[in-house]
Formats: sequence, structure tokens, C-alpha cells
Amino acid sequence: EAGELADELEQSIYAVGGFVRDILMDTPNLDLDLVVEGDGIAFAQALGDKLGGRVRAHRKFQTAVIVLPDGQHIDVATARLEYYEYPAALPTVELSSIKMDLYRRDFTINALAVQLNKSQFGRLVDFFGAQRDIKNRVIRVLHSLSFVEDPTRILRAIRFAQRYSFQIGGQTERLIKNALGLGMMEKLSGSRLFNEMCLIFEEKTALACLRQMRDLRLLSAIHPMLTLSPAQEELLEEIEKVLEWYRLLYLNHAPRSWIIYFMALANGAKDEETQSLAERFNLTPKQINDFLALRKQLNQSIYHYKMWKHRKGPLSQLCFQLDELPVEGVLFFMSKFKQEATRRDLSQYLTRLKDAELDISGRDLQLAGLPEGPAYGEILKKVRAA
Ligand code: ATP
Repeated sequence: EAGELADELEQSIYAVGGFVRDILMDTPNLDLDLVVEGDGIAFAQALGDKLGGRVRAHRKFQTAVIVLPDGQHIDVATARLEYYEYPAALPTVELSSIKMDLYRRDFTINALAVQLNKSQFGRLVDFFGAQRDIKNRVIRVLHSLSFVEDPTRILRAIRFAQRYSFQIGGQTERLIKNALGLGMMEKLSGSRLFNEMCLIFEEKTALACLRQMRDLRLLSAIHPMLTLSPAQEELLEEIEKVLEWYRLLYLNHAPRSWIIYFMALANGAKDEETQSLAERFNLTPKQINDFLALRKQLNQSIYHYKMWKHRKGPLSQLCFQLDELPVEGVLFFMSKFKQEATRRDLSQYLTRLKDAELDISGRDLQLAGLPEGPAYGEILKKVRAA
């Protein structure tokens, strides 16, 4: 449909970036990014109308997002030429063509396009040797100032290298070291850094990323506290296993992985040190307080769990204690304690008890004629315990 519409509007249209990379690598990817040689916003509005979606436009960047009725997003950009006023700044924008659009991207493997217009449907646009690099399994930047322009690309290079088991190209690695030598990491804003770290923590290979970051002396450039000690590595290995186990349960809510990784990276650190790390990532005071509170709560839960185990208490008691802890806390707890019995208790809680719904609600008590009051909570709690 996008191709037909572009034909009608006499514009060239391409699918670009990760979507094309993942087609060539036979990996599923549902994030469609389109680039229009023409007016991207007008195109997005027309395509949004056609598909019954809503469109949000960002005039400054000449981009738009179409939100389809099923919640899926399509990003639409205008092929454009970018200037950077100074390294790591946000780009200012001017109209131009697909080649320039691809040239401003991070790596060759992400600088691919497939044309969607009917007469050219499926034409692969590869100006920078992306197919060769995919075949040779290397991550390569497009030009030597790439990391100075945008140091988040250093983290992206590592993320893609680990995700696909690619090598970072020799020259590209030298450019990373060069950018680090210029102090680019220190210049990177906390929120952009945090954003990239969160993406790393969503990967199954997050620990491998952290190890590569340490080997490139990137971790210590971010914050001296990030040493990745052998004990932390061991804990992170367990976290990866626990998160994978949890993922495979296909429960409704995905945990915020970053919280669990942060708990590991700040494991054993004092509150002030943790605070300083959190400030480097520009966490809000609320996020920092929540994080410190979670850590405190976790220690209490561990203590209560041990008491419960010792006293051979009822399962309901464990359940109420763990209800105090967000899921990230329970998963971290599981990662920290490898004993089979502990894992069994916690996994039983997560899989069978945590989200167990009651057959009755306050409404039933109302219908039974019970006067409203604190008794409601007590009764429902007892039903849950039973
Ligand atoms: P993922 O599979 O992790 O979503 P992706 O490649 O789709 O990978 P996005 O972050 O959605 O990643 O970016 C979409 C495209 O935008 C990339 O393929 C790349 O071409 C370009 N891009 C993203 N971030 C940068 C950056 N920092 N510098 C240059 N190009 C970028």
C-alpha cells in the first residue's frame, strides 16, 4: 500500500534500517521504518488515512509516526541531509535524498534500503557495502567522525556485535578507542547514555555487552564504580538465566530489565555511591528514591523469607511478603540465591500465586449485604490466603 500511495504521489519510497538488515539476516523484525524522497509528513498523513491509523508529526525533523489500529507503529522520515553544529548535538535538518539519508546512519549494516514503489519493488539500495559486511559479520561505521558525532554509536556497535555475534571492524574499533581518548563518553548526556544502556539491558546478550564495554575501558569512562568484579559477573550470569526463564513464561508484564541490572552493578555499593552512579545516568530523584527503596525492601524480603523458611510458615505468608516487592525485586532475589529450594519457592510465587485472581470481589461482599468498611480488605485477604 505504501508503494502504491507513493506512486500516486510521484515520490520514491523505501523501507530502511534495521527492518532491511533483519530481512537479509533472516531475523524477525516488526519495526518498519520508511523513508520518502519528498514530503514525509504529507505521505505519512495519506498512508495513515488509508490504513485507518493516527499520525503524529514532528515538523522540526520532517518525520512522522503512524500508529495503526492494532497499536503497531510505522516511522516515516523525509530523506534529508544532516549537519551537526557540534559533536553529540541534536541534528538540524535540510531536505535531500536517500543516499544522504543512509549516509547519516550508524553502521553499514543499518544503512540499507529497499525500494517499495511498484515499478522498482524490492530493489535493494546498498551504497556502503552492507551486504558484504553482513556476509563477513562485521560492524563498520560509514565515516571516521561517526563516533565523535554521536558517541551513543559506540554502545550501539557493541549491542549489535553481541546480538548477531559480529566482530567490530578493525578500523571501527580504532575509531572507538580514538573517540574514548577524546573523552567523548564523558561528554555524552546522562539521558542518552541511560537510553542506550536500557536497550543493552533488553538484549539477551547484555552481560557480553558489559564485558566488551569493560574490555574497551568504556565502563570505567562512564563511571569509576562500574568495575564489573568477578562476583558481579557471576551474579549477572544468574540474572541472564533468570530473565530468560521469566521471558519464556510469557506473562503479561515484562520486567524493567534495567532495574535488575542496576541492582547488580550497584550490588554492595553504599547508597551515596549508588546515588552518584544514578546521577551519571540522569535518573530523576523519584527514580533514585524508588531504586533505593526497592533495595531496602529487597533486604527485608530476604530476611522475612529466611524467617518464613525457618519457621516453615504457610505459603500465604510468603505470598503477602513478596507482594510488597516489585517483580524486578523478586527476579533479582532469585538471581542472588541459587539454592534450588529458594528458586522453587520464588518461582511458585511468580508463576502461580502473584497474579492469581480471586473468584470474588468487593462487589460480591456488597451484594451479600455486608456494610462497607475495612472488613472488606480483611476478608479478601483471607480468601487470598486460603
Ligand atoms: P533494533 O533492532 O535494536 O530496533 P534498529 O536498527 O531498528 O535496531 P533503531 O534504534 O530503531 O534500531 O534505529 C533505526 C535506524 O536508525 C537504524 O537502523 C539506523 O539506521 C538508524 N539509527 C539509529 N540510531 C542511530 C544513531 N545513533 N546514529 C545513526 N543512525 C542511527
